[in-house]
Amino acid sequence: MGLLSLGTPLEWEVSRKYNEHVRDNGVEQLIYIFKAAHGRNNDPLYWGDELEFMLVTNNHKDNKKEHYKLSVEADWILESLESTETPGIPNAHDQNVTYHPEYGRFMLEATPLSPYNSTKEYSKISYVEKNMELRRQLAEEKLSTKDYNHHEKVILLSIAVFPRMGCDNFINVPNQWDPLHKNKASQSLFLPDEIINRHVRFPTLTANIRTRRGEKVAMNVPMYKDIHTPLLDDSIENSARIQTFGKWFPKHDSEKAYKPGFIYMDAMGFGMGCSCLQVTFQAPNLEMGRYLYDSLNNFAPIMLSLTSASPFFKGWLSDQDVRWNVISGAVDDRTAEEKDSGKVPKSRYSVVDLYLGSGLNNKASYFDEKLNDTNVPINKKVYQRLLDNEIYPMDKHLARHFAHLFIRDPIVIFEERINQDNETETDHFENIQSTNWQSLRFKPPTQKATPDNKQVPGWRVEFRTMEIQLTSFENAAFSILIYLIVECLLTFPDIFNAYIPMSNVWQNMETAHKRDSTISPNIKFHWKTQFFNTNSYDSEKMTMKEIFNNPKSGIFPVVINRILKHKKIIDNDWKELKARTEDSDLTALYFYLLLVEKRSSGEIPTFAHYFRNFVLRHPEYKHDSKISESINDDLIDRYVSITNLDNENILKEYFGDSIGEYLYSKRENKI
Ligand code: ADP
Ligand code: MG
Ligand code: MG
Ligand code: MG
Ligand code: MG
Ligand code: MG
Repeated sequence: MGLLSLGTPLEWEVSRKYNEHVRDNGVEQLIYIFKAAHGRNNDPLYWGDELEFMLVTNNHKDNKKEHYKLSVEADWILESLESTETPGIPNAHDQNVTYHPEYGRFMLEATPLSPYNSTKEYSKISYVEKNMELRRQLAEEKLSTKDYNHHEKVILLSIAVFPRMGCDNFINVPNQWDPLHKNKASQSLFLPDEIINRHVRFPTLTANIRTRRGEKVAMNVPMYKDIHTPLLDDSIENSARIQTFGKWFPKHDSEKAYKPGFIYMDAMGFGMGCSCLQVTFQAPNLEMGRYLYDSLNNFAPIMLSLTSASPFFKGWLSDQDVRWNVISGAVDDRTAEEKDSGKVPKSRYSVVDLYLGSGLNNKASYFDEKLNDTNVPINKKVYQRLLDNEIYPMDKHLARHFAHLFIRDPIVIFEERINQDNETETDHFENIQSTNWQSLRFKPPTQKATPDNKQVPGWRVEFRTMEIQLTSFENAAFSILIYLIVECLLTFPDIFNAYIPMSNVWQNMETAHKRDSTISPNIKFHWKTQFFNTNSYDSEKMTMKEIFNNPKSGIFPVVINRILKHKKIIDNDWKELKARTEDSDLTALYFYLLLVEKRSSGEIPTFAHYFRNFVLRHPEYKHDSKISESINDDLIDRYVSITNLDNENILKEYFGDSIGEYLYSKRENKI
């Protein structure tokens, strides 16, 4: 999240009157941003990641361990980390760490304060992992200073989904289902509103999406089928809440809920309560930003698959591996009419809609408008204004991108922020922009970002699909992989042609949801057959192993080796790094790339694969696809063990022998 506006958020029935006002002024703000910043050039490749942690209780009472739960009482930690000094605990900002609010009251987002590459120290490859680890440590140290009931401890886990989210007793709130004042925002049968961030923006967002849509959100995720798996999601009747909340379960909802073979979820929190790993890169200028955005487009579904970490939802084993379509459904504010008529084909949380193309007619670009071959509605009024204004007339490809974002209504408007100065403020633009959640985000700067003002960020591209991983080692590895790809793209823009038709990228995004999409030899993605010095948009269907390793267009041979050679880090192949033991940075890089190689080839499991099997083999598992409280406890014990790198055998099982040994020895060095 960016900074939160303070003030009074308007309920949908009031705020909708200002929708057109927000769009009209948002467009003007955007035009002034372009006027100010279009001439920026030579911005350095600053970059940074975002980690979304979950706060989990790890409690003991009378020497007995209690069940793990999501903590909704520890959200004081955000303000404390950002602005309160605690003796003996280093100040987060002094450590180049900063924390942000997230949708869940049990969530804590953390980023580097100053981006990587902005100083010599922050440019070191091993610094990324160090910074990530610090973010976890500082928060856990602060959390441990508060003694709730003499027995409560809160830990940070970087997991995509809490396995029993939405089941009985999954949070530490007494009297969760008091019908008189509960769940006004979400009206959920499963998620108490206590899981929502206390800042007024978030419950309002939840309620306004539901009100605009005209009903509750409904997500149906395929259930993993085992021999005793029930046909229907029986958590609905099993719940006492159905009596209490009967009024929130009208007939049309029950049709959605009782869909044979599917898990039913009914609240924004099921999606926005998932955690992800995002990375943002600054481009040298506007044109390169557009090129970078377009070129990363088909890497997004591939990386979603490779980082698969969501094999459970609401206490069920699911038959998919990733969180993406759950979040997409969780914030889908379209009315039935908009959806059924096809007027608005997609949720506002979805895969990228349009390539940005190039605005320079005289410069070679591989973009061809035919590549935008999907049905993408635009706001025609916005489109015309962006083309026709005198302040900064856009070219049609850029205008089309923004005119698509502007088909959406603003979801939350703050009363105090309705009237703005379009030449200096950006709230209305950001209101639309920041609630268009896509696989990539093209991030324009502000009107302050004139060519000579390098104190503020320039044009940036955010890579948003990755699922968060348990260890800082893995999160650093995947972030650095994308960094190297970006570096390669920006180093060879004249000869790197990553375009394939948009419709193929959309299909890849669906493929990435399939169970074991990374490992299965039968699941294939559209992937370019050649990247360099080609005018062709040809792709073939390839397995993940081929996408990473095939000699003509594999990410390792073609992209990674090329950039590492260019940087004179290797002669030919990244595996040479193994011998470079004199330099700990290069050793770290070797193991990051080794992790990616072993995951992509299926030699070691993804999180989703490993932990689905963990449940399937659990002695208490009843072959009914259900995750009981004690299975949940054992899952989380295992998460904690891997996160802390504390058991060599488990590390070897999860990461394979060589990475397992390396990580275990690193942990020993730390102590
Ligand atoms: P959002 O939630 O809007 O995506 P955040 O501020 O949470 O944004 O995260 C943005 C990331 O971008 C952080 O890791 C931050 O360190 C990084 N960052 C900050 N400044 C720049 C910059 N000039 N260029 C690239 N990345 C930057
Ligand atoms: Mg976030
Ligand atoms: Mg953020
Ligand atoms: Mg955000
Ligand atoms: Mg999130
Ligand atoms: Mg982000």
